[in-house]
Amino acid sequence: MRKGLLGPSLKLSVPASSDQASFSKFLTESGTFKDGDLLVNRDGVRIVSQSEMEPPPPNPIMPIDNQLSLADIDTIKVVGKGTGGVVQLVQHKWTNQFFALKEIQMNIEESMRKQIAQELKINQSAQCPYVVVCYQSFYANGVISIILEYMDGGSLADLLKKVKTIPEANLAAICKQVLKGLMYLHHEKHIIHRDLKPSNLLINHRGEVKITDFGVSAIMESTSGQANTFIGTFNYMSPERINGSQRGYNYKSDIWSLGLILLECAMGRFPYTPPDQSERWDSIFELIETIVDKPPPTAPSEHFSAEFCSFISACLQKDPKDRLTAQELMGHPFVSMYDDLHIDLGAYFSNAGSPLATL
Ligand code: ATP
Ligand code: MG
Repeated sequence: MRKGLLGPSLKLSVPASSDQASFSKFLTESGTFKDGDLLVNRDGVRIVSQSEMEPPPPNPIMPIDNQLSLADIDTIKVVGKGTGGVVQLVQHKWTNQFFALKEIQMNIEESMRKQIAQELKINQSAQCPYVVVCYQSFYANGVISIILEYMDGGSLADLLKKVKTIPEANLAAICKQVLKGLMYLHHEKHIIHRDLKPSNLLINHRGEVKITDFGVSAIMESTSGQANTFIGTFNYMSPERINGSQRGYNYKSDIWSLGLILLECAMGRFPYTPPDQSERWDSIFELIETIVDKPPPTAPSEHFSAEFCSFISACLQKDPKDRLTAQELMGHPFVSMYDDLHIDLGAYFSNAGSPLATL
């Protein structure tokens, strides 16, 4: 599914200085940047080994085009923290444009580097209004740095903390955008997200909702031994992924996650509850067992429209074959039933919480 070779062979050069910690980038004749052993050009990202490198050019030319370099950005503030590292709001020194810089601390074994380059490349190649743009990625000194489109409303998880529940009509407008993003990832790019959850859906003051961190999840998964990552992420994971019954699980596992996210937004709490009215899960295994063995959660019909309940149940089918695809869900009546209301998500997101950082 995510197969494919790394980018075409590129013409290389090495920094004049071997001090890779300086993050200095050099533009080669072929428009290629080199940082540490990660190589970036318009075709994507590639990891190179020392033996592949050519001698340094006599006069390395500093980047002058639209390529982003870490040396050209100022840090404004930390906007979020994840398991792997921090996300900062940064500003490009020359254009004043805002970006998000995500840094993931990870000492990667040599064998993992190719995979990471591949994932970063997938990340950068995705271009769709419903997917967070990844402008550039670097790897140096055990840190993966990813320059992303800055989403000034933060994540759906941040929003949920403020509003507690999201009204159905707003949820339909959010859902429509997420489905467009998923249609793009699944049907055009053939990418499974694998880690869809409220914190990976980002929002902004224009009312846009975009999917982020596809690719990153694959990196985390394949290096989870080192990165202490996957706890907490099980919450939105489909039964077939958890129990490993479907080797080479497919796009449908993202649809399961979408169903759980929407239900959580509507109900104001994570849809699975611990047994016996207890406050918390005894262990992650108890939750996992419930997801795998018990019937899927449903939307309570006394509180929600029949369309919403039916949409949720179309996503939360335990057998992936019974779940609808993103494309099929786009045609589900819930998605368009509130169209006449012309919901202004921009106003909703902006009024929901503290003033947005860059307004
Ligand atoms: P986990 O590490 O468990 O996957 P997470 O998704 O919250 O959790 P990160 O992806 O590191 O971790 O993101 C941390 C937070 O940073 C997000 O919840 C969001 O609030 C913020 N954030 C991430 N990316 C951006 C972005 N491009 N623009 C604005 N804020 C962002
Ligand atoms: Mg994330």
